[in-house]
Amino acid sequence: MTNSKLRCALGAAFALATLGSAAMAQEVNIYSSRHYDSDDKLYAKFTEETGITVNRIEGEADELIARLEAEGDNSPADVFITVDIGRMGRAEEAGLLQPVESEVIENAVPAHLRDPENMWFGVSQRARIIFYSKDRVENPPRTYEALADEAMKGKICIRSSKNIYNQSLLASIIEADGEDAARDWAEGIVANMARNPEGGDTDQLRGLVSGECDVAVANHYYFLRGFDQEVDGLTEGLDGIGWVWPNQSDRGAHLNLAAAAMVKSAPNPDAAKTFLEFLTSEFAQQHFASQNNEYPAVPGIGLDEDTARLGFFIADNDTMTASFGDNAAKAQKIFNEVGWQ
Ligand code: FE
Repeated sequence: MTNSKLRCALGAAFALATLGSAAMAQEVNIYSSRHYDSDDKLYAKFTEETGITVNRIEGEADELIARLEAEGDNSPADVFITVDIGRMGRAEEAGLLQPVESEVIENAVPAHLRDPENMWFGVSQRARIIFYSKDRVENPPRTYEALADEAMKGKICIRSSKNIYNQSLLASIIEADGEDAARDWAEGIVANMARNPEGGDTDQLRGLVSGECDVAVANHYYFLRGFDQEVDGLTEGLDGIGWVWPNQSDRGAHLNLAAAAMVKSAPNPDAAKTFLEFLTSEFAQQHFASQNNEYPAVPGIGLDEDTARLGFFIADNDTMTASFGDNAAKAQKIFNEVGWQ
């Protein structure tokens, strides 16, 4: 924060110094729900390459959306970044975004990871996969659908339906299997829960270590984080946890997206577009993904060693990520109907 404030101050000083000469220094204002200290490096690189100063405000996605709504046309925000597509869908629905026509982005990011109307695009991908206790589970479920089989009764730990990751997962199942099948699936999951939903994804993995759960659903990076740092209740049990890349013989694993968009009222649209295009560069892709052991959205970008630990997999490239937002209301209705807390 201090660094970025300093950079803002320097940017302002630079702007004043050059007033009256050729052009004002450009800037881009970013509202981001992603916060890593090391992102300073990413923004510094952008400024170095383009001369455009980056100012950012970080917060929870829903707070930032509320702020954008309250600020309306007077918002200083140019770019909005979220770590899940459900919330980007909310921003889109609230009319807070504008389309960006960019060959750079279209050529770099595959179509299924972009909004069909170019309202947003994916920057990095996060897989929601199946983990299991190697000691207690001989044949782990190989598909999301199999999590709802009777054989899994009392074994599954998965967090609350209030969580956006589960909302997007169910939205993708609605898209792949239809609404009725998705309702049956959700009903089956509730029947198979080892306990009432509690905690975050890390807590579902902790349940595998403590023995409370045999099978858990979590985003992949929560597992990898246990190798990077000492995660209480998880790191000591990592050896006993296996993982399954689901649906490898059909549609592939469900991936959610961290995504970026241009704000409708962006005061600096040209700088914003330059920044959005920069996010598809090799440097930005590698940086953005490796901060959280995520998968780059741009194909062909190398993975860091830690992320590569989970091996090769087939991602669900058929289901449009945009459908996660489109099916959000149906997913919420199903969660309510089946009593998934
Ligand atoms: Fe997360």
